[in-house]
Amino acid sequence: MHLSDLKTGEKAYIVKVKGHGGFRKRIIEMGFIKGQEIEALLSAPLQDPVKYKVMGYEVSLRRQEAEQIEVSYERLRSVDESPMTSTSTPRDQQHASSGVKEITIALVGNPNCGKTSLFNFASGAHEHVGNYSGVTVDAKEGYTHFGGYRIRLVDLPGTYSLSAYSPEELYVRKQLVDDTPDVIINVIDASNIERNLYLTTQLMDMHLRVVCALNMFDELEMRGDKLNVDKLSSLLGMPMVPTSFKTGRGLDLLLSEVIHIFESREGHDEYYRHFHIKHDHEIEDGINNIQKYLKGNELLRLRYSTRWLAIKLLEMDKEVDAILRELPDYDKIIEARDTAVRRIKEETGDDSETAIMDAKYGFIRGALHEAGYVVGVKEDTYKTTHKLDALITNRWVGFPIFFFILYLMFEVTFILGQYPMDWIEMGVDQLGSMIGDMMAEGPLKAMLIDGILGGVGSVIVFLPQILILYTFISVMEDSGYMARAAFIMDKLMHGMGLHGKSFIPLIMGFGCNVPAVMATRTIESRRSRLITMLVLPMMSCSARLPIYIMITGAFFTARYQSLVMISLYVVGIALSVIIARVLSIWVIKGEDTPFVMELPPYRFPTAKAIFRHTWEKGKQYLKKMGGVILVASIIVWALGYFGTMGVAPSLEESFIGLLGKAVEPIFTVQGFDWRLDVSLIAGVGAKEIVASTIGVLYGDSAYNFSQLTAYCFLLYVLIYFPCIATIAAIKQESGSWRWAIFAAIYTTVLAWIVSAAVYQIGSCFLA
Ligand code: GDP
Ligand code: MG
Repeated sequence: MHLSDLKTGEKAYIVKVKGHGGFRKRIIEMGFIKGQEIEALLSAPLQDPVKYKVMGYEVSLRRQEAEQIEVSYERLRSVDESPMTSTSTPRDQQHASSGVKEITIALVGNPNCGKTSLFNFASGAHEHVGNYSGVTVDAKEGYTHFGGYRIRLVDLPGTYSLSAYSPEELYVRKQLVDDTPDVIINVIDASNIERNLYLTTQLMDMHLRVVCALNMFDELEMRGDKLNVDKLSSLLGMPMVPTSFKTGRGLDLLLSEVIHIFESREGHDEYYRHFHIKHDHEIEDGINNIQKYLKGNELLRLRYSTRWLAIKLLEMDKEVDAILRELPDYDKIIEARDTAVRRIKEETGDDSETAIMDAKYGFIRGALHEAGYVVGVKEDTYKTTHKLDALITNRWVGFPIFFFILYLMFEVTFILGQYPMDWIEMGVDQLGSMIGDMMAEGPLKAMLIDGILGGVGSVIVFLPQILILYTFISVMEDSGYMARAAFIMDKLMHGMGLHGKSFIPLIMGFGCNVPAVMATRTIESRRSRLITMLVLPMMSCSARLPIYIMITGAFFTARYQSLVMISLYVVGIALSVIIARVLSIWVIKGEDTPFVMELPPYRFPTAKAIFRHTWEKGKQYLKKMGGVILVASIIVWALGYFGTMGVAPSLEESFIGLLGKAVEPIFTVQGFDWRLDVSLIAGVGAKEIVASTIGVLYGDSAYNFSQLTAYCFLLYVLIYFPCIATIAAIKQESGSWRWAIFAAIYTTVLAWIVSAAVYQIGSCFLA
């Protein structure tokens, strides 16, 4: 509980003080030390502030301040039994010898530096590890126990900086400021240390408790780099621990440093002290002038480091600007900033943002130099990478390689997947005949065999193929190839009004549209993000595969099956290009922000990671099977079994027949009959249901439509309403129902138009 929850007259014991360093320091100086008894004496008429008694003093705290202090009714084992023996003042003593408590750690770092690997090692969690930015779109939480503490780990999305440039950066910043983790582990890719430390300097500005994990230390050693870690650590005033989360090396040391930082007091030793990066005098003057106005505001000081606010303001940060806009002195603050910005421009020739950045990089270079940093020449991870890249991103062979890999992916998926698919099919059939023999005729048997087995069975057979497809995608992601694919596709993507980065979500869309929509978060420009999201449903997800296989298998000879299948994918891609163009020219206007595309070094993906990722996806698929699809299959079966007069004599007279008949006129242009219409309606929940519904509705009877209709039906399935989950994801990511509804409508209308046109034109030729 928080101190703010304490009622007048109640007593409790302080557990910990949260918030950034400046606030903690002040409050600890006032006597708010772990284990101290505190009593709420009386509150002001409006419940704010409240007067407390601690260590014999009476202090009044604002509600917001009190919220930052955690207390407990239970007395912890005493804090300073012998405070006088300590060299520091007893009131500053924070060492606790008390029982199990919780520490919250946030993992912050650049994309691909190994945060998720660390997270998995520490928490044993099953979380996908990817080799391009954006796999982690949300904060993932896990737990571990260490040194008498229960440690809560939060894996945050990767960011290069904490300016409010991309939604991820904003998100991470918000987590750091609002959720005030106790300690931050800044994960650094040590083989790329200079750039990684930039983020560290921003954490320093924010005055947070930071421990650095110098990850990928194995690569640094392999290359023969020289670095005095202790020296660097003391220069930056934060503990640094060499780690490698390929093997888990350094994890224990890292966690003990975290606990050490948590328990000790800032300035306690040279590895834990607050450090200002000194800027040139004109920048420092600007910071000081702005800070003057901020320091007077207690509420502001409580939540933020004023130096950080001042620096951010000089960097023209919109979010910080919005925070400060509430202040009475806002005009004067902005005046101070503008003066500073002008001076900086005059004296350095740069805008303030660049000047601050330069100073930070200068600081980093200086610190690295002092720590004796020398890049080794032995085994450059980038050497192989450069060689490979020369080939893979080559203008002539890059595309052929890429398309070959895609081709290979689909071939293997279909050919190799056929075997287990046959086995499962046989198993389902046998199960069906077993139940058939055992049970008496009646609705229950019909439901089991025709409803559940017919519906779920016709979809579950695709599990092997889906697993194979996901294995491919995981390998491409984890090895770093996916980032190259984005790189070589960049130009084409620009032609569509998209970014190269849009390509990754688009490819992921072949697996499932839902995570793909979520992956669009990595695209900095809102415009490109929206367009990518909206064209994603054109990417034929694996849920559509069962229908394709089912229909092409029945209507086309083996020679043409693959061709038909590929044509559907191609139509989807072509449509996405056209739609993206249309959207970018007429619907979603605006400027694109430039961006950097990260090309991480190639890494051999670990079998464990690949297995994990693939399994996670498979689990999701099975869950869908047990949930939505099971329910839908039973509903479809029931609607087909019963009619207005009890058990329907034939399908046509059942409820579903009536429903199908009702919408039939809409689809006569395509030649769909009512059974196809019904399965399309049922497929709104999830596209697999189209296949399972056809399975239920046709049963053993033969299909009664032409090849042309069959193809148009496939086109319709490809294009129309993606599925409820995708629409929900679009709503969530775009932040409004508007775009979600837009996506739902445009896809359905387009599907009707395309399938009608193909049918009408096609029948002229075939007639
Ligand atoms: P995140 O984006 O920060 O979450 O990074 P990930 O945890 O997804 O890791 C990115 C890639 O780096 C994966 O392929 C990991 O297997 C690999 N990796 C992580 N830590 C290390 C390490 O210490 N050494 C090496 N060589 N590779 C690592
Ligand atoms: Mg991650």
